[in-house]
Amino acid sequence: MAVDSLPATARKISANIGAHYVDNARKLPWRSPPGSNLPDPYHVWLSEVMLQQTTVGAVKSYFEKFTRRWPTVQDLARADEADVMAAWAGLGYYARARNLRKCAVHISDKREGIFPQKESELLELPGVGAYTAAAIAAIAFGERAVVVDANIERLVARLFAIDTPLPKGKAEIRAAMDAITPRHGAGDFAQACMDIGATICTSKNPKCDICPVQQHCAAFAGGNMEDYPVKPPKKAKPVRKARLFWIERQGQLLLGTRPPNGMLGGMRALPDDEWAAGIDGHGKPPIAGQWQVHDNIVQHSFTHFSLEVDLAVYQDEKIVTNSDDNIWWALDDIAEAGLPTLYTKAVRWKLKEEK
Ligand code: SF4
Repeated sequence: MAVDSLPATARKISANIGAHYVDNARKLPWRSPPGSNLPDPYHVWLSEVMLQQTTVGAVKSYFEKFTRRWPTVQDLARADEADVMAAWAGLGYYARARNLRKCAVHISDKREGIFPQKESELLELPGVGAYTAAAIAAIAFGERAVVVDANIERLVARLFAIDTPLPKGKAEIRAAMDAITPRHGAGDFAQACMDIGATICTSKNPKCDICPVQQHCAAFAGGNMEDYPVKPPKKAKPVRKARLFWIERQGQLLLGTRPPNGMLGGMRALPDDEWAAGIDGHGKPPIAGQWQVHDNIVQHSFTHFSLEVDLAVYQDEKIVTNSDDNIWWALDDIAEAGLPTLYTKAVRWKLKEEK
């Protein structure tokens, strides 16, 4: 079905999706039930930032932890950056946490704690991109904005059998979503589409038999639902080497803070070799000592590369360090250090190995 031949069908699709949402909306801690008062923009913004590249299941407990600890955007603005980074640990894509705090400070200082309503103004906030601006405008303020996340992308690509490969196909998918987005209730509509994409029009084995738009779905008619959206050919991920340094004295582990910019910036972490400072990842240890090296103890995958990690260990009761940037952290409390997943994996490996 061509998107430009749509109007009457668009209305039907839109109505079916809206009606389905009334009885089937997922209950999520940042949402208001369908048709009720608009949710708190702080909650919508926080959840949307957390949900970027992260699943709803993983986000729920973080959202609850953040809103318990920082109930308003002003509370978050006043928080210590290290506390925010530590509370974010495990969610990944840490630039989001840094931007989160930056944005909270901006809203608090420059806008008296009030979020702007218009998509164009939301776009000017630190860390708020096109998707997040549209989602906040529609969900928190009821503006007519066109919201396309990964779930909606899949649903719409199938509905209209859009076969232009991503990322080029994104413009067509957005135009199709624009065509079916109603003038009123764009927030509920977007959330309804997200829910159908997440629970019915799933990547594998979509449940077309219970889909509210099955009779309008071009991919269903063609019997090739899983061919959409058309993805570009996968590139092999490069593999890099890194070495982490485990420096332990009297039941305490030496931790530092990663440089503010770059990957995992500002996060507490074990000292390391900058992830392949040498071509094989064998950087110079931060202090002289009797180092014992364990090769390739864990692997970790980032978006654009994978990392094979060695752990160099130096344990001595009398280690002296002279850097103010480091902190000795009790190994018994290491779970509270807020280490990113890569470092947590290495710590777990070492503690297991000692048993
Ligand atoms: Fe997705 Fe199937 Fe519904 Fe089409 S009919 S939108 S493929 S669940």
